Amino acid sequence: SYLLAIESSCDDTSCAILKNDQVLSNVTASQKVHEQYGGVVPELASRAHQSNIIPVVDQAIKKAGISKSQLSAIAYTQGPGLMGSLLVGSSFAKSLSLALDIPLIAVHHMQAHILAHFIDSGQEKPQFPFLALTISGGHTQIVKVNDYHDMQVIGSTMDDAVGEAFDKSGKLMGLDYPAGPMIDKLARKGNAKAFKFPIPTAPDLDYSFSGFKTSVLYFLQKQTQKDPDFIKNNLEDLCASIQYTIIEILFQKLDKAVKQTGIKQVAIGGGVSANSGIRERLLAKREKGWKVFMPPFEYTTDNAAMIGISGYFKYLQKDFTDLSSTSSPRMSM
Ligand code: ATP
Ligand code: FE
Repeated sequence: SYLLAIESSCDDTSCAILKNDQVLSNVTASQKVHEQYGGVVPELASRAHQSNIIPVVDQAIKKAGISKSQLSAIAYTQGPGLMGSLLVGSSFAKSLSLALDIPLIAVHHMQAHILAHFIDSGQEKPQFPFLALTISGGHTQIVKVNDYHDMQVIGSTMDDAVGEAFDKSGKLMGLDYPAGPMIDKLARKGNAKAFKFPIPTAPDLDYSFSGFKTSVLYFLQKQTQKDPDFIKNNLEDLCASIQYTIIEILFQKLDKAVKQTGIKQVAIGGGVSANSGIRERLLAKREKGWKVFMPPFEYTTDNAAMIGISGYFKYLQKDFTDLSSTSSPRMSM
């Protein structure tokens, strides 16, 4: 089967063509307009999706070297995400499925971040059940994955997502949005033990990051009062220490989840899973008997290939939707 998939939940317009579990093309237009605002502006995002979607779809079809008439189904992101952004993708997907008279498949964005592991990439795939740590700009979850369509969130953040912890800490240090990748890069040259930040408490397998962000804020305020150049002179050490603390927070609960469930197969997913420190820490867990899985970089941040692979498994089960399906900004697993 050939599937066309569309992702438009936040600020990336993406289209992919899959042949079964193989990605033939995966084209993404990122939106630069938000940089100057230090975060995604929903109204501007949906407008940019509108102007990007047709060229992105055209390019994906062209790159895949197929014609529209060969398509077997259309998959799209139903939620969670920004309403205006989701609507652009869903309207387009619906129109295309109607025009081509082929089935329409609704996909859950966070499930897709996990199912990205099942794209045929030559890497070994996790076996059910496994644990997934999904870490992104809007979510921080520990998920027990029983099957392609049976997932259970066993821990999640009570406030900020881990991506926000990176981005907001970066903003406090004067870094551009999104600051995650830059913190990652600078952290490699810094001393992770230079500064100590407290680990916030949260019940059981849940996370909390808002207190962490506040402690970074107070620390930076106090230091810059004494030395106005404090941030500039300590940027690498600050990034390394902040990243180190975030990784500690993530892994304390992940360790706990592995102990509680007895499941030692652990996959990471979502934009923050591109982080090299997180990847290193996960790889080190193999010494503790964990089997670990990391998606290829191109499938970590938002992309339509992950929507395509999720759609493919639904396609096999004939799990279709119709034109009456509605986008849902807050969609639970
Ligand atoms: P969600 O999937 O929850 O809807 P989103 O789709 O906006 O959120 P993603 O695109 O999956 O989020 O991830 C974006 C986040 O990933 C940003 O916060 C960005 O800073 C962070 N990020 C990307 N690369 C890295 C990195 N190398 N280190 C740390 N954070 C990173
Ligand atoms: Fe995402």
